[in-house]
Parts: sequence; structure tokens; C-alpha cells
Amino acid sequence: MRYYHSWSGGKDSTAAVILDHIHNLPSSTIVFSEVMFDKTRNISGELPEHIDFIKNKAIPIFIKWGYDVKIAQADKDYITEFHTIIRKSNIPHRNGQKRAFPLGGKCSINRDIKTKAIQDFFKTIDGDYIQYVGIAADEPKRLERLNGTNKVSLLAKYGYTEQMAYELCQEYDLLSPIYSFTKRNGCWFCPNQSYAEMAHLKKYYPYLWRELEKLSQENNLVTQGFKYNATFAEVNAKVDKIIKEKEV
Ligand code: SF4
Repeated sequence: MRYYHSWSGGKDSTAAVILDHIHNLPSSTIVFSEVMFDKTRNISGELPEHIDFIKNKAIPIFIKWGYDVKIAQADKDYITEFHTIIRKSNIPHRNGQKRAFPLGGKCSINRDIKTKAIQDFFKTIDGDYIQYVGIAADEPKRLERLNGTNKVSLLAKYGYTEQMAYELCQEYDLLSPIYSFTKRNGCWFCPNQSYAEMAHLKKYYPYLWRELEKLSQENNLVTQGFKYNATFAEVNAKVDKIIKEKEV
């Protein structure tokens, strides 16, 4: 039997790797799915401080512990997805227009890029395998969905709640720096992130915010919606207000 960690760098999947290490479980491979914003310019879709943590801190430690680590990337990136021309919509006027920003609650980036990279990776595996997933002992609904699958939660096995996973990562100095300003781990262009998270992005990584602004100014977009129904300009105004208020 082979074992694989689906690892995002978030506290739960990182704590699962730490538990694997502590309990000296049979050898496993760690798989990280990296969403790319623009593959041509090598711009990751992960927050800069998170991808730095992944590549320059966590992965070297895991390798030192004896793990094999794979970074999976889909063929597509955010830029490709944004510019894909809609051809088969049931709403005729949408056909011929660019897909534009991903829809909050129905993110095509998750389906076509993040999950796709992992699925494609597992298609290359011959034979049976177990997939370790970062679901905590206090997430009963998510755990229930693992029944009858090849997915296993090491956090549940060893009785680790989300809070305990956080503390375990802290103890091993393997807590991503994103947790200093957010509770969630996601792409920097995510429509589901809060306005405060977007303000963090614009303040500390204005060049990434500018990328989104430039896209919002393109023509032939199927929608101007950037964060649910709010346009980029509307979101930008709110974000500026938050940045200003924090500076006062
Ligand atoms: S974090 Fe947001 S943008 Fe990224 S895949 Fe998930 S829902 Fe989509």
C-alpha cells in the first residue's frame, strides 16, 4: 500500500504530516497542488508569504524528515481561465465573451486548476493507495464524507482538533505566516476572501492588485463582477477605505 498526503500548507494538512512524522508511519509522499496565476511569468496564485513558507521552509524540513514531496500544477492557470471564451452557455449573449473573474461560491479555478492538478497526479498512480487529508477531529460532517473512500484523516485518528492542529504546527515552527492576518488559506485573487484580506493584498503586494485591476479593464468580459456582484472598482474603493482606516 502507498500513502500520499494532500497538503495545502494550511495548519490541518501540515499537522497531519507532523503526526505522520511523530508516529513514524509507513513511508509516504506529500503532494502540494499549486495554483498558478500566470505560468508564463511564473506568478503563483498562492499568497507570496505562503508560497515562500511552502517552498523555502516546510518542504526542506519534510525532505529532511525523509519525505518525498511533489508539487502538482495543472496545465491551465488563472490567466488562461480568465481569457477562455465561452462557447456553450445556455444564455446566448454570453457566448463569445471571456469567462472573466471566477464566481464566488462556484469557483472554476478550484475545479479546473487546483483539484484538477491533484486528480491528474493520482491518475498516474498504479494500484491501491491511501490519501491522507487535513480534516480535524472536530469536523464531523467532513469526516463523515470520508466513509467508503480511500481518504484517511490522521488528525481524527490521533484525536486532534483544529485548535490542536494549529498548536502542533506552532510547536514545530511549521505554521504558515498567513495565520497572522487570516484564518483561511486560499488564492490571493479569491472572490471569497474578506475585504480585510484584500486590503492586506493591496497594501503589501500592490503589483498583484494591479494585475487584477488591469484584467478588470479588459473588454468583452461576460461579467464585471469581481467579488460576487461587486465590480473591481467598487471593491477597490472599499479596500482603500480599510487601508486608510488602519493607517489612522
Ligand atoms: S481559494 Fe478561492 S480562488 Fe482559489 S480555488 Fe479556492 S475558491 Fe477558487
